[in-house]
Amino acid sequence: MIGLGRFGCHLAESLTRMNHEVLAIDRNPAQVQRWSSQLDRVVQADSTEEGALRQLGIASFGRAVVAIGASVEASVLTVLALVELGTPQIWARATSQKHAKILSSVGAHHVIFPEAETGDRVAHLIVSRLLDFI
Ligand code: ATP
Repeated sequence: MIGLGRFGCHLAESLTRMNHEVLAIDRNPAQVQRWSSQLDRVVQADSTEEGALRQLGIASFGRAVVAIGASVEASVLTVLALVELGTPQIWARATSQKHAKILSSVGAHHVIFPEAETGDRVAHLIVSRLLDFI
């Protein structure tokens, strides 16, 4: 899990609860400190540095999630580094359609839009509950 913002940390927690081994990476020491007692392995590193990811043994992981949202540059460079390392499944978070297009074109296998997908799901839920009352 790369990027321990609100989305990344919730996802890392859920995967850990589901008994998956999670290596969490963030460049911000405060985030690393904050999550180190709640997740199995939390390390500080800049994920845009391919060498740093290699040293962490990313090549042996089957899946990587790039949960960085706000910095398009950091998310794209991270996906590129993961592609270079031969990561079999790269999931990447996009914050716009253009961001999604770039992530796919540099090699992300799955692009996710947490805010938009949650918005859609909640809208359907609200409408279905409304229909229950009609
Ligand atoms: P969220 O909505 O999930 O809270 P955000 O959009 O507010 O995220 P982002 O800028 O996407 O915040 O950052 C999410 C996390 O990714 C932060 O904890 C940040 O430190 C981390 N991050 C950003 N760039 C890098 C990087 N190059 N290497 C490692 N971690 C990074």
